[in-house]
Amino acid sequence: MHFPTTCPTCAREVPAEFADSLIHELTCPSCGARYVVYVRKQKFEVLFDLGTRALLEGYAREAVASFAAAQERFFEFYVKAFALERAAGREGDFEEALAALDGTWRHVASQSERQLGMFALAYLLREGRAPDFLTPGALGSDFRNRVIHRGVLPRREEVEAYAARVFALIDRLLTALGPGAAQVELAQERAFAAHLAGLPEGVVAVFEEHPGMFRARRFAGPGGGETAPKATVGPSTPPLNDAQAFAWALAERGAWRGPLKRR
Ligand SMILES: [Zn+2]
Repeated sequence: MHFPTTCPTCAREVPAEFADSLIHELTCPSCGARYVVYVRKQKFEVLFDLGTRALLEGYAREAVASFAAAQERFFEFYVKAFALERAAGREGDFEEALAALDGTWRHVASQSERQLGMFALAYLLREGRAPDFLTPGALGSDFRNRVIHRGVLPRREEVEAYAARVFALIDRLLTALGPGAAQVELAQERAFAAHLAGLPEGVVAVFEEHPGMFRARRFAGPGGGETAPKATVGPSTPPLNDAQAFAWALAERGAWRGPLKRR
């Protein structure tokens, strides 16, 4: 997926492809300037936006894979947030906590069922209750498997319903995490800072906020609006049922012509 960047030297628009690290090293084809764009966004947000874009452009089947991946990456995000949040309350170094987390995640990285188990425990320990929403029905596992593993061609309405469920789950858990999510954002900032420190002379660093669907919702609440671009801040916080919440977020996205605009 591409997004437009602006050359800091000559202001030409230069397309960049989303990198897994969200660090994008670019050279302007007009003036030859080198610059790096750091995108402050989480992987699950990128994947969900990718799914939304695929859905809006008529690629329903492709959208399912992105929504499913967004859900899985969100579980990872939650576990990370929980672990770093706990570490932040204790003596010790943030880097050490991050390394311990990475060492632990390695045991589950290649199997999503293990990751789900890890998430379930993190939720129990953080919230003090069972993650009763983790049913195959709520997760849409059956639908996802039919589409991804058995090649079933889904109808757009089915994909919208699936997306709405994934959206509602992530939205609800993000709300529950509250400021806990900031720990993972801090980890990303540190990764960016480490990369920035190694940049050669003359390479310009550009930091960008890409307001995806969740970011818009997160910053739309009371007191959180100052860091979000105006176009994405809703007039009120409208949580309705899953489908309505997703439709609202979609409409917000439709009104926004930022970095994810169709090229
Ligand atoms: Zn340029």
